[in-house]
Amino acid sequence: MRQRPRGRLTLPFVKASPEAQLRLLELADLDTELSRLDHRRRTQPEIAELAQLGERAAKVRDAITIADTNLSDLDRELTRAERDVEQVRVRIDRDNERLNAGQVSNARELESLQSEVASLRRRQSDLEEGVLELMEKRETAQALRDGAAAEAETVAADTASVTARSDAAVAGIDEEWAKATSARATVAADIPADLIALYDKIRASSGRGAAALRRGQCGGCREMLSTVELNEIRAAAPDEVVRHEECRRILIRTADSGL
Ligand SMILES: [Zn+2]
Repeated sequence: MRQRPRGRLTLPFVKASPEAQLRLLELADLDTELSRLDHRRRTQPEIAELAQLGERAAKVRDAITIADTNLSDLDRELTRAERDVEQVRVRIDRDNERLNAGQVSNARELESLQSEVASLRRRQSDLEEGVLELMEKRETAQALRDGAAAEAETVAADTASVTARSDAAVAGIDEEWAKATSARATVAADIPADLIALYDKIRASSGRGAAALRRGQCGGCREMLSTVELNEIRAAAPDEVVRHEECRRILIRTADSGL
């Protein structure tokens, strides 16, 4: 008399020939291959690399905008400063002309004019110093702009090469995917629809719907089956679809199942 009902391991309503059950194992292997390919596609290192490059590109664009604004501000300041220098120079020239032409004879006027020239020269020297400072600042700003432009070129070149690498990797994955998909269709054609339906249902919840029973071990969860369980499977008809009670997966009997 049986201690445990066989129904705990078998699914009474699904029966399939041992050949069809073995094909289900092939189907499970192909599905594992397809998930592996899908995982590879989603986790390819180029995705992270491209995201990083995108961040770098955005930073470089910001740096270029800031540098351009800085440069045009400095250019405006320089134009103004140079104009100021020019204005002072024109006034000095005019005063000198008056002095040299001997037009000024009044001593007080002469003294005032000479003192104005001296003060204008000091002003000119200050303004010229300011121009030099602005030119230095402009040089620094231009160097930053050039550096950012060079970085932008590097980022663009890196992005192009990583994209090419990613495209090639994806093309390889797509090719393997197409092969596995077509093989899956061929295998699935040899398996009864109700067995596939059961398999798909288990696969949706556990990732792998069927596993081989090898040397008393479930290939799905890697658990060793108890003697009682092995006895139950041994007693089951070859066309009965048995399942591992522990992980619910369909267990496929093979030549080295250890039964
Ligand atoms: Zn299992």
